[in-house]
Amino acid sequence: MSRRFSFQVTATDGRARLGAISTPRGEIRTPAFMPVGTAATVKAMLPESVRATGADILLGNTYHLMLRPTAERIARLGGLHRFMNWERPILTDSGGFQVMSLADLRKLTEEGVTFRSHIDGSRHHLSPERSMEIQRLLGSDIVMAFDECPALPATEADVAKSMRLSMRWAQRSRDAFGDRPGHALFGIMQGGVTRELREESAAALRAIGFDGYAIGGLAVGEGQEAMFGVLDYAPGYLPEDRPRYLMGVGKPDDIVGAVERGVDMMDCVLPSRSGRTGQAWTRRGQVNIKNARHMDDPRPLDEDCTCPACRNYSRAYLHHVFRAQEIIASMLLTWHNLHYYQQLMQGLRDAIAEGRLAGFVAGFHAARAAGDIEPV
Ligand SMILES: [Zn+2]
Repeated sequence: MSRRFSFQVTATDGRARLGAISTPRGEIRTPAFMPVGTAATVKAMLPESVRATGADILLGNTYHLMLRPTAERIARLGGLHRFMNWERPILTDSGGFQVMSLADLRKLTEEGVTFRSHIDGSRHHLSPERSMEIQRLLGSDIVMAFDECPALPATEADVAKSMRLSMRWAQRSRDAFGDRPGHALFGIMQGGVTRELREESAAALRAIGFDGYAIGGLAVGEGQEAMFGVLDYAPGYLPEDRPRYLMGVGKPDDIVGAVERGVDMMDCVLPSRSGRTGQAWTRRGQVNIKNARHMDDPRPLDEDCTCPACRNYSRAYLHHVFRAQEIIASMLLTWHNLHYYQQLMQGLRDAIAEGRLAGFVAGFHAARAAGDIEPV
């Protein structure tokens, strides 16, 4: 296995790319969907179950782990991989996005951010240097630069000012990260929905030089049309020989549209969070297992799905355990959702490899249009 971090594009179909990221902890097939393990667990799932769905990499959250149980404690216990029993690659976010969403609980300066913990109100500090230190203590394979993402609605002047701060922080992140063979540092493009700002941000990141490039500041409430509008040009500003990571996306149709536009990696809490609220994502759309219509239904959630929830249990059973607030409801629905997401990624990868992505995408939309989508 390679001791270095590298990325290879092996096929393209339109703007979509098939590839693989090699890391000392294993290969990441791209386009990749990364399940989110916020507090060192993908909620309701064992790590081996997450792997069984087809996930090559997990995401961990710097903000949550620095507060509890702390990065220093995780480092003393052998690092995040050993701590959570996941030996494959882990990407950690920088903490920036979550700290920024604390709104009035934080104070932002050129140097960094001081904030109060949502758990106990204690004071903490994050800066590019501290974020790099925390992600090193966790043992993250893919480290994200520390950035700021302005809350919407924001004026274009606010977005520009914030983006330029993030670019200065990107340089400080690069300097603090240093030379760590086998580990990668990704820069994060900002600039909202303004093309000139996206172009300026990409140029600044390219000048610094990163192992991969994220597109940040999307999926924050701008809507799918505006997001796809940015994705029609933004990936083209980034180096072709590095992975492109769209942060915090998304619903299945967001993922398909992003892959069509040249995105290689994505993450979202949606499949696991939905599993805990009774929402199942399927090829034919969304199923709300809470609905009374499932009470006597002996069919599985999705007849075509090979996950344990669909192989062994009826909609009637899933409805019952959800209504009875049994823990197995979250376990089964989360497993199904993560399985569906990874099957979707495999379908996209196969289609790109065989040069039939347009047909795959048409089939994806047709199955949903013909299905029984239940409003949330
Ligand atoms: Zn299933």
